[in-house]
Amino acid sequence: MTPEGRVRLRAFDQFVVKLHSRCNLACDYCYVYELRDTGWRERPRTMPEAVRERLVQRVGEHVRRHRPSRVQVALHGGEPLLAGPDVIAGFSAAARRAVTLAGAEAELVVQSNGTLLDEAVLETLLRHGIRVGVSLDGDERAHDRHRRGPAGSRHGGSHARVSAGLALLERPRYRGLFAGLLCVVDPEAGDPAVVFDALADHDPPAIDFTLPYGTWDHPAPLAGSGAYGAWLCAAFDRWWQTGRAARVRLFESIMAQSLFGAGSSSELIGLLPAAAVVIESDGAISWSGSLNAVADGAAHAGGTVFSHSFDAVLSLPGAPEHGVAALCRTCRECPLVSVCGAGLRAHRHGRRRGFANPSVYCRDLSLLIGHIQQKLGSGGFSAAFPEPDGTGGADQRR
Ligand code: SF4
Ligand code: SF4
Repeated sequence: MTPEGRVRLRAFDQFVVKLHSRCNLACDYCYVYELRDTGWRERPRTMPEAVRERLVQRVGEHVRRHRPSRVQVALHGGEPLLAGPDVIAGFSAAARRAVTLAGAEAELVVQSNGTLLDEAVLETLLRHGIRVGVSLDGDERAHDRHRRGPAGSRHGGSHARVSAGLALLERPRYRGLFAGLLCVVDPEAGDPAVVFDALADHDPPAIDFTLPYGTWDHPAPLAGSGAYGAWLCAAFDRWWQTGRAARVRLFESIMAQSLFGAGSSSELIGLLPAAAVVIESDGAISWSGSLNAVADGAAHAGGTVFSHSFDAVLSLPGAPEHGVAALCRTCRECPLVSVCGAGLRAHRHGRRRGFANPSVYCRDLSLLIGHIQQKLGSGGFSAAFPEPDGTGGADQRR
C-alpha cells in the first residue's frame, strides 16, 4: 500500500455507530438532514437491540481477523446521547468486551452536540470510560449562526446550553473524558482569532476544524473563493502564537506531512484513506457521512451488518480508494498533492466527472498548505514538532 499507487483499505479500525438517528438541534449545515441524502427518514430512531448485537459480533470477528492494536468505536447520530443511558452503557460495554477479547485495545468515544451533557450522563460515560467530543463553532455569535434548535422550538441558539455542558465536562472529575472540540469553519463567523480563542478558552485537548460538506454541484457558500483558506491561515497563526496548547489535527497533519511525509490524521487532507466505516441505526453500512452531500444514497455501501461481514464490505464496489493514481490529472500533477491528497472525497464530486476533480476547496487548501509551508521554510517554526499519532482529538464527523 503506497501513496503513489491506488490504495484500497484492507481493514477497518474505526467504527462510527449511529446509535440514534435524530437530533434535538437543527443546524443549517447538518450533514445528516440538510444534504442530498434522505435515508435518515426511514431509519429507526434508536438502533434496535438486534442490530447492536449483530454489530458487536461483526466488530469482534473483524478485529480477531486483522489484529489491529487499537480500535475506536465512535457513537454518533443525530445526537447519540438521545439513545439514553441504558442503550449507551449496554452497547459500549458489549463493544469494549468484543474488541478486548479479540486482542485489541478499545477506545470508546461519543461525538455530541453538548446540549444534553449533565451530571447523570457524565457519570454514565465515566463508568464506561467513554470520552466525549463536543461540537462548538466558537463564540456565541459564531456558534449560533448555524447551530440552532428546530424552528418553532423554545430554544434559539444552542451556545448557552453547550457552554453549560462544557463547564461540567471541564470539572476535575470529568476532565479526563474530554476528547476535544469540533468546529465547522465559517469565514463569515467573525475574526478567526476570536473564534479560536473562544474554543481554546475551554482548554480542550484537541480542536478539529472541518469544512462544510459540499460538492462542485452543491458547494457550501464561499467554497473555493479562498475565504476558508484565509480564515484557516489566520486561525493557524493564532494557534501558533498562543502556544499550541490544544492539538489541531489539520494543522499538525500539514506540518508533519510537509516535514516528514507522515500520514495525515485529519479527514480533510492526505493520500491515505481513513480506516473508518459507518453503521446506520438500521444496520446499513455507509462509507462516510460526507458522501451525503453527493446524492441520495451515495454514502451507502450496499450491505448491512446482517448481510455482510466487514471484510465482505471492503470488497464492495465504491470502497474508498486513495493514493495519487486514484486522483484526477490536475491533482496528480499538483506540487502539493503529497500533503493535500485532493482533500475529502465528497468535496471532489461533480456531476460530469464523478470524483475525478480537485477538491471544491482546492484554493482554500492550497492557501493553507502554502501558508504553513512558507512559515516552515522561513524558519519561524524551529520548536521540536511531534509527528501526529491520530490520538487525542475529538472524533470528526464521518
Ligand atoms: S447537532 Fe449534529 S446531527 Fe444535530 S442537527 Fe447539528 S450537525 Fe446535525
Ligand atoms: S485539490 Fe488542489 S491543492 Fe489539492 S492536490 Fe488537487 S490541485 Fe492540488
